[in-house]
Amino acid sequence: MPEGPEVECTRLSLRRFEGKKIAKIELTKLSQKYKKYKGKQKIFDEFIGRTITKIERKGKFLIWGFDFPKVILNHLGMSGHWIISEVEDVPAHIIHLKIKILFKNENMIAIFEDTRNFGQFRIYDTYQDVMNHLPIRNLGPDGLKVPFPQEAFAEKLKLKKNANKEIGRILLDQSLIAGIGNIYKSESLALAKITPLKLVKKLKPEEIERLGGSISIILRKAVKSMGSSIQSYRTSTGEEGSAQNWHKVYAKAGSNCESCGNRIIRIVQDKRSTFYCEKCQV
Ligand SMILES: [Zn+2]
Repeated sequence: MPEGPEVECTRLSLRRFEGKKIAKIELTKLSQKYKKYKGKQKIFDEFIGRTITKIERKGKFLIWGFDFPKVILNHLGMSGHWIISEVEDVPAHIIHLKIKILFKNENMIAIFEDTRNFGQFRIYDTYQDVMNHLPIRNLGPDGLKVPFPQEAFAEKLKLKKNANKEIGRILLDQSLIAGIGNIYKSESLALAKITPLKLVKKLKPEEIERLGGSISIILRKAVKSMGSSIQSYRTSTGEEGSAQNWHKVYAKAGSNCESCGNRIIRIVQDKRSTFYCEKCQV
């Protein structure tokens, strides 16, 4: 699933459409999941002739702003991704096309492809509405923020409700730090040399400091690598990201740890895989 860095890479690519006027939005092959939009095409037709003013990211969400109050909230889901292509040159391999946006005086188009249909498009009347609405309202500080929001991170970890939780579970809680998913959770803990099984209340202040620093390093490095292409994620030009090439633990169960030679293991926390080295991470 795309995490904060992959969504950030998507946003950086889509920014080329800021200031562009929408000429047409074509919806195709919309699955059951999109049926809540009765008369779907009509709803999206409201955006025709409107100019995109800003595409921003909150955690793993994209928020599309326009030159009128309505806002589109877009989540890539498990496998959704945006492809930017020349109008004449739409890649033939796109078979799960969901939305195609054409712009005025622009030869590039934006295509949303989604194999598994978990991607979401929600329309809000105003920007304030989307900010007040779950899940945006509950998002914690962004993990890609520079400098990293260390103080807020430490404060949230100190909350009573978190004391007895394993750090490998709670890092996925988007109200703690927004943008971390399963891959970067394992990698951040590996860099910080902290076991995912450690209870939050057992973390020393210097470990919390180290973990915050590690999250920041890992997430920013992932953006620079154009994200991780483990399953379906592709950049908007259709290429694979390269972050998987420097992963130390994620999806490496059975391989030897680069630091100590010990076998990397996989455990399950809240039904999600966590990978780590028992020897290096204590
Ligand atoms: Zn090791």
